[in-house]
Amino acid sequence: MNEFALIRDYFTRPKFVRKDVILGVGDDAAITQVPQGQYLATTTDTLLEGVHFLPEASPEAIAHKAIAVNLSDLAAMGAEPAWINLSLSVEQVDQSWLSKFSTKINDLTQYFSIQLIGGDTVKGKTAVTITAQGFVPPESMLTRSGANPGDWLFLTGTVGDAAAGLAFLKGQLEIADASASDYLVNRHYFPTPRVLAGTTLRRLATSCIDISDGLLQDLEHIIEGSKVGAIVHLDKLPISQALGETIPDLEQALTYACTGGDDYELLFTIPEEHRVSMETAMANYHLPVTCIGQITGAQGKIDLRLNDQAFSFVAIEGKGYQHF
Ligand code: ADP
Ligand code: MG
Repeated sequence: MNEFALIRDYFTRPKFVRKDVILGVGDDAAITQVPQGQYLATTTDTLLEGVHFLPEASPEAIAHKAIAVNLSDLAAMGAEPAWINLSLSVEQVDQSWLSKFSTKINDLTQYFSIQLIGGDTVKGKTAVTITAQGFVPPESMLTRSGANPGDWLFLTGTVGDAAAGLAFLKGQLEIADASASDYLVNRHYFPTPRVLAGTTLRRLATSCIDISDGLLQDLEHIIEGSKVGAIVHLDKLPISQALGETIPDLEQALTYACTGGDDYELLFTIPEEHRVSMETAMANYHLPVTCIGQITGAQGKIDLRLNDQAFSFVAIEGKGYQHF
């Protein structure tokens, strides 16, 4: 099968068609229409075999993660996703792999009401690059740089799960209970991009970031961007039942929660006057959020507390994942 047949067979039958796509896959470039008065948010992420996914990862998991990490970036900007581009590198034309991969991409585009509008297909080591674009009203885009001293620090969902799932898959963590290991492995393979939480935070949050590299490392980006500091109450960190039961040792569980990457939860700051509106909106959507601390004026300092006592990790080597 040649490149053109491959594209035709797997990427030209969108399950979800948007009105703002004038020309999708098939010509030299896509033509799309940005709604009047809105900004266009654009983000790209590459997933490489061996770096971002294990060689045994299923095509469905790879497709899911490639979309999720990109939509998570849009969510962190308060943007509503609209279009994706897909650059795919594969060693050979494996019809079964491509069929499962493209079906999952198609299903997810329908689920998120987005459209695949183009891409590229090349032969090489397995790699998936997705560029996602979405819209955000100018007055309510979210960045890393608006946090102010006194703002409350909040997290969606739970942290540390994906890292524990990955450690289990790599044989570095034993999990006796199959339902716990299933849950944690799923959090690694199928992270939930917090798309609705992101748009809900428009006008409410002063800053926002998604947790891809680990809570502390990503918090550092907010601290730097906003020129502030933060207090984090470690005893308040949302830890899933599965992670808590798997790792009864608190410090070890906290290490996963603070430095484990790939959870794709949102970390954001909320001024006191918006706290109730935010909590009410999130509760209406059944989106779990937890207050884990507060922004301070101590520029560049992250003050970790456990039961109100200063705390520092013994075991921590880095703050999170870094490529170089
Ligand atoms: P060109 O050589 O002009 O760059 P290609 O042959 O690479 O065009 O692609 C033809 C069309 O198919 C383009 O619209 C391109 O965006 C689309 N396309 C190529 N690969 C993919 C892919 N993996 N997923 C979605 N669209 C793709
Ligand atoms: Mg061309």
